[in-house]
Amino acid sequence: MIDAYIALGANLENPYQQLLQAIEHLKQLPLSEWGCVSPLYSSSPMGPQDQPDYVNGVAYIRTSLNPHQLLDELQKIELTQGRVRKSERWGPRTLDLDLLLYGQQVIQDERLIVPHYGMKERAFVLVPLFDIAPALVLPDGSAIKELVRLCDQTQLFRIDN
Ligand code: ATP
Ligand code: MG
Ligand code: MG
Repeated sequence: MIDAYIALGANLENPYQQLLQAIEHLKQLPLSEWGCVSPLYSSSPMGPQDQPDYVNGVAYIRTSLNPHQLLDELQKIELTQGRVRKSERWGPRTLDLDLLLYGQQVIQDERLIVPHYGMKERAFVLVPLFDIAPALVLPDGSAIKELVRLCDQTQLFRIDN
C-alpha cells in the first residue's frame, strides 16, 4: 500500500456538499483504505476572477492502485459529480480531484505529473496538507512546514467542520 494525498476543490453547485460527497466516493475507492480528510477551507479563485470562491481540502488514503489507475478513479468521481471539461483553464467546476503525492514517487508523463506541478505555490493545497501531515517532506526534499511558511495565505479561510 502506498500513501497518497489528493486535493479536493469545488466552486459550483453547493461546493461544500460536493466536497462531502467526494469524500464519500473516496472512501469507496477499490484496493484502497480511507485515511482522513483535512479541515475544509474557502479560497479565492486562481486565474479567471469572475467565478465563485472555492472550497478546498486534502484527503489521505492508502492504496494498491497504481498512479494511473488512481487518476482514472479520481476522474470517474469528477464525472459522477457532474464535472464538464471545458477548454478554459482554471474555470469553475463542480469538483476537481488532483493527485498531489503518490508515496515518494516522481511521475512525469502525458497524463500525470506527480508531485502535482502547482502544489508548492498553492496555499489552498499546502495548508490543508500541512494540517494532516505536518512532518511531510516532498520527493525533492522540501518540507511541507517550510512551504506553508512561505506561501501567501491571505485569501484562505478555514471553514468550521
Ligand atoms: P491544475 O492541474 O492546474 O490544478 P486543473 O486541476 O483544473 O488544473 P484538470 O482539467 O483537472 O486541471 O486536469 C487536466 C489534466 O491534468 C488531466 O486530464 C490529467 O491528465 C492531468 N494531470 C497531470 N497531473 C495530474 C495530477 N497530479 N492530478 C490530476 N490530474 C493531473
Ligand atoms: Mg486542479
Ligand atoms: Mg484537476
